[in-house]
Amino acid sequence: VTAAGDPVAFGQRHVTKGIGRLTDAIMTKGEGSYVHFHDGRRLLDFTCGIGVTNLGHCHTKVSKAAADQCMELVHCQCNISFHYPTIRLIEKLIPVMPDPTLDSFYFWNSGSEAVEGAMKMARTITGRQNIICMQGGYHGRTYGAMAVTRSKTSYSEGFFPLMPGAFSTSFPFWHQLGLAPDTPEEELVRLALYQLDLVLKQQTSPSDTAAIIIEPVLGEGGYIPAPSAFLKGLRGVCDAHGILLIIDEVQSGFGRTGKMFNVEYSGVRPDIMVMAKGLANGFPLSCIVSRKELTDKLKSGSMGGTYAGNAVSCAAAVAVVDVFQKENILDNVNARSKELIGALRNLQTCPEVGGNIVDVRGQGLMVGVEFASPSYPAQDLVLNRSAPRGLASRVAERCMEKGMLILTASVYEVIRFIPPLNVTAEDLKKGCEIFAEAVKEVIR
Ligand code: PMP
Repeated sequence: VTAAGDPVAFGQRHVTKGIGRLTDAIMTKGEGSYVHFHDGRRLLDFTCGIGVTNLGHCHTKVSKAAADQCMELVHCQCNISFHYPTIRLIEKLIPVMPDPTLDSFYFWNSGSEAVEGAMKMARTITGRQNIICMQGGYHGRTYGAMAVTRSKTSYSEGFFPLMPGAFSTSFPFWHQLGLAPDTPEEELVRLALYQLDLVLKQQTSPSDTAAIIIEPVLGEGGYIPAPSAFLKGLRGVCDAHGILLIIDEVQSGFGRTGKMFNVEYSGVRPDIMVMAKGLANGFPLSCIVSRKELTDKLKSGSMGGTYAGNAVSCAAAVAVVDVFQKENILDNVNARSKELIGALRNLQTCPEVGGNIVDVRGQGLMVGVEFASPSYPAQDLVLNRSAPRGLASRVAERCMEKGMLILTASVYEVIRFIPPLNVTAEDLKKGCEIFAEAVKEVIR
């Protein structure tokens, strides 16, 4: 096959099989909430490239800022000198940080790299080695990040041994604890904090534990917000033992959940926070932020990377923060969130759905819908019925046929809604209608 004759077959033949894809079509153009494919289809994009193009595809101000920077300076290696886009970006980010103590920044390319850096920093700062992560958590595919990823075995299958020193504890999610979907939040928090106490007594002592890493909303693990009481509990445990709290806002950050950062809901102060995805709306950029008094303990030369903090990506990110402020993005997130969650809850109780949606959850425009599944005893106990298998991926496929891109998440039957943060009420309604029709058709 040739690229000119059959570009799809060419891609299938020459792109490594290690990458899973929703579709083999070729995406040719993105505009706002829509993407175009080579075969002429125009689809509503409720994936945002997995929570990246949060201001819509090719936002004019972001693309223009990047294009202007391209004519000025593209690459300036971070171990050689500063560049203005980094300086300007830090100036923009300081006022929107979830805590005023977060004042020391390091930019990288991907979320995984930022997670790696955060763990290296925690080890140096505390002089301790071990990291506690959450069951169901996702932090990336590089070796260290993979070691603290516990959302699906397929990410690490065949790649052991991973980075040593990673331990996991329960996330306060009913599935994770084998409980029913209506288990009261206090009970989930109590059990999860009890598990953590056991981990620190039975597996890794506080004096060996450098950090606890957590996504304030489990992303790949199924779109589950951590209750504020749990995050506060973690903060308390960390303070009591000199353990650092690493908050991974790679997916939940940059307005995704209705506040600039999700930890703002709990008021919990991260010691280290990592961000990426929405930060530059599609240009590769991630960031680790911490406190100067902590990062001053790092050895010069211990961090770095050829493309770290690229000037074009930083210039795009400056425009992103500007757009948040000038276009009232968070107001739109919160207004559209109510409509989305309302529409999904209506669908949940609709007789044609017949109890097959067991949970609608989330904050802002990071919303998960969980279908019944025959694989989980807690659901069998609660529902006392047998559900069809694989509902989520069949619904996602049906949505695509009907004109909308949408993704599944986790080992459970979860569909995740990640529409652009500036999606219009009209497009959101259209997406909800496509989804409702797809669900009813698949269940029928
Ligand atoms: N942390 C979280 C919470 C994520 O959702 C992701 C990506 N899905 C990562 C880290 C890894 O980011 P990247 O794919 O950019 O390496």
